[in-house]
Amino acid sequence: MLENKNNAKTDLASLGEFGLIDYLTNSIQLKHQSTVKGVGDDAAVLNSKKHILLTTDLLVEGVHFDLTYVPLKHLGYKAVMVNLSDVYAMNGMATQITVSIAVSNRFPLEAIEALYSGIHLACKTYNVDLVGGDTTSSTTGLLISVTAIGEVKKDAIAYRNGAKPNDLLVVTGDLGAAYLGLQVLEREKQVFKANPNAQPELDKYTYLVERQLKPEARKDIVTLLEALDVKPTAMIDISDGLSSEILHICKQSDVGCNLYESKIPLSQEVISTSEEFNLNSTTVALNGGEDYELLFTIAQTDYSKIKGNPNLTVIGHITPKSEGVHLVTRANQKIELTAQGWNGLS
Ligand code: ADP
Ligand code: MG
Repeated sequence: MLENKNNAKTDLASLGEFGLIDYLTNSIQLKHQSTVKGVGDDAAVLNSKKHILLTTDLLVEGVHFDLTYVPLKHLGYKAVMVNLSDVYAMNGMATQITVSIAVSNRFPLEAIEALYSGIHLACKTYNVDLVGGDTTSSTTGLLISVTAIGEVKKDAIAYRNGAKPNDLLVVTGDLGAAYLGLQVLEREKQVFKANPNAQPELDKYTYLVERQLKPEARKDIVTLLEALDVKPTAMIDISDGLSSEILHICKQSDVGCNLYESKIPLSQEVISTSEEFNLNSTTVALNGGEDYELLFTIAQTDYSKIKGNPNLTVIGHITPKSEGVHLVTRANQKIELTAQGWNGLS
């Protein structure tokens, strides 16, 4: 490892493309039996008897992230998380990733090193092998694309299209925090622009900011469901907001749904900060994105297996398509759910 004393800045050009790739990948230790060959040949070689899951995401500076408040280490970690989350949403386990980056010469080696420290940490924590990628230059900024590979037993796979009337709608964790974390960071950015000497006041928002900057994909839920012997009839991860994900499940499963406002899990921080920002906390949970929780449906007969689990909240039930997709408010009013998605609140 290079030392980064005195905030040293090493020009990327001094290493060259191959030097950089070697530097970023030379300490990789492969963990999975299914990884036959990782970085270093023309292609990685994998081996599996199960269904293979493959998913990819592209993150573009200025569109998906803002480096004024996103540390590069967190960006690397999150870029991996968003992909692992998609694998877990199929009820599978992630096994390998590839990482492709395009960087402008504005970034020194130390910046790319920070990005990769987040990537390596995510791989270690989630037991995933980094098996390849691509490295190129960019004229504009930073682009990072991660592809995740996973596997799932053929009879365990959970698609979006399997929900049936009377199934229960279940969500993991709590919702809305990542969106509010972004609002807090945006506000601090404006304050900083106006007065660069201002100290950010983030203490009371630690949970929200952490949910935005360092999301954790719900690998634990895939393990939990297997242990409880529950197979979701449909599953999706919450990247765009609860509303939008419910509509995806309903559309693909050809069903309707009643979602109960009073059941939506909210943290105390989401409730108090929504108030502070003059936002309705239900709207935040419905339309704020990037929670990376899992949303799934189960047969009613499985209810006793999940009952009382602190990670899981039943928030509604599936209906015939003809009944539509509705939010049942605390006042017992029925409102049609629409997909405002991520941009709805901004
Ligand atoms: P090729 O010319 O065949 O595309 P490269 O020189 O781009 O090969 O890559 C050499 C090896 O390094 C390959 O195994 C590739 O998957 C891996 N690699 C390249 N860039 C990255 C990166 N940013 N992160 C991880 N692995 C990478
Ligand atoms: Mg290449």
